[in-house]
Amino acid sequence: MSKGLPKRSEDYSLWYNELVKKADLAENSAVRGCMVIKPYGYSIWEKMQAEIDRMFKETGHTNAYFPLFIPKSYLSKEADHVDGFAKECAVVTHYRLKNDEEGNGVVVDPEAKLEEELIVRPTSETIIWSTYKNWVQSYRDLPIMVNQWANVVRWEMRTRFFLRTTEFLWQEGHTAHATKQEAIDESVQMMNVYASFAEDFMAVPVVKGIKSESERFAGAIETYCIEALMQDGKALQAGTSHFLGQNFAKAFDVKFANREGGQDYVWGTSWGVSTRLMGALIMAHSDDQGLVLPPKLAPIQVVIVPIYKGEDQLNAISEKADGIIKALRAVGVSVKFDGRDTYKPGFKFAEWELKGVPVRIAIGPKDMENNSVEIARRDTGVKETFSLENDLTEKIQGLMEEIQNAIYQKAQDFRTENTRSVETYEEFKEVLENEGGFISAHWDGTAETEEKIKNETKATIRCIPIDAVEEEGKCIYTGKPSKVRALFAKAY
Ligand code: AMP
Repeated sequence: MSKGLPKRSEDYSLWYNELVKKADLAENSAVRGCMVIKPYGYSIWEKMQAEIDRMFKETGHTNAYFPLFIPKSYLSKEADHVDGFAKECAVVTHYRLKNDEEGNGVVVDPEAKLEEELIVRPTSETIIWSTYKNWVQSYRDLPIMVNQWANVVRWEMRTRFFLRTTEFLWQEGHTAHATKQEAIDESVQMMNVYASFAEDFMAVPVVKGIKSESERFAGAIETYCIEALMQDGKALQAGTSHFLGQNFAKAFDVKFANREGGQDYVWGTSWGVSTRLMGALIMAHSDDQGLVLPPKLAPIQVVIVPIYKGEDQLNAISEKADGIIKALRAVGVSVKFDGRDTYKPGFKFAEWELKGVPVRIAIGPKDMENNSVEIARRDTGVKETFSLENDLTEKIQGLMEEIQNAIYQKAQDFRTENTRSVETYEEFKEVLENEGGFISAHWDGTAETEEKIKNETKATIRCIPIDAVEEEGKCIYTGKPSKVRALFAKAY
């Protein structure tokens, strides 16, 4: 098979786009910025969803579903929120088409104009808080710990498969609490849940931090985030968790009778991760041969490819493979036997490499004679002959763990090598230009300075890391005093 992937080192962006298409993850659709997620891509997303959903339930959340449409007036109730989202809203104005009498085909029926326009949700705080008003009367009704899995629409101008699409799939958690501290604890907890998922399942190390004011969610008091580093040295915001204070409760008049008998506004949080995580997964680990998937998220963990001449050999190998498949499935390893007689083994090897299957087992006539198989690792390309006198199931289970850890370690080493501290603006620009990656630098804390640095260098503040230690320093741009370093990078 001709894979023809461009090299990462030559054109990272093209490599990414081609990889997404050739590995059968997604393709473009008739609508600009909207993608078709293909079965193989969707099965990776389903694995992500299943783990994230499990983690949400373990932390006390339950799923619900709210409508796709939001009355326009709702969106305007929280001033910052509408400011932040107005520029990217899809608006429904009519509810009917008709046949044009002048022969122009089907047109919008001007008589079917909606009294109030509807916004296709870009995020659901407004519709959800308007609902919570009816759910909350007293402190006994709190907390509300709800999540929804949904699609949302943000009319993005510059789109890219998974990383930034006009319609995307995500989950959005929306919680309501009696106290400020409880809401803050919840926002921090969900940032930690996202970080655990990214590191333990996606094998992507992340920096946990707080967004600067200009990168904060529209309507939030504080935005917590996880930031990952891609192989081209650009950062990616992989998840966000917002402490909303009482902003949405005030906008939608959500009050409760507190324990002392008074009335209080409810405290809120919201948090989300999207199909962007697919982009992070692809960009963090894959190579010039194709995808590299961490075993915990690979839809197929082991592929078995028979190498044979004629039906007799195929039958004998298939029989041997059957036993292996049963044993592996019994311990929860997902296995595929690629018995297609329409493709040669070399083609199959390349295809499964492109699709990132962590382990390939090849069985040929020689293996049949020797009671062995050939095992190849996708992440390192290392091959070995394995005697079936030994326990193959144990071997594969061990490999799954080893590969998961090795992929994480590689990504972490890359991040360590590509995180640099600088003391001057000159140094900052030089590192950004020549190396990329995360740059840790002092900043005076003003939006003005952040904006100037962004305009001059395209680098933005990704976050103030949660574990940043206070130290006396000087802002690289203005020389004004600074107490803590911010993490800068060019970002997707
Ligand atoms: P937000 O509601 O803006 O905090 O975003 C929630 C999550 O969705 C974050 O993890 C973002 O990285 C992700 N996200 C935001 N916009 C897009 C988009 N256009 N396509 C895919 N993911 C997005």
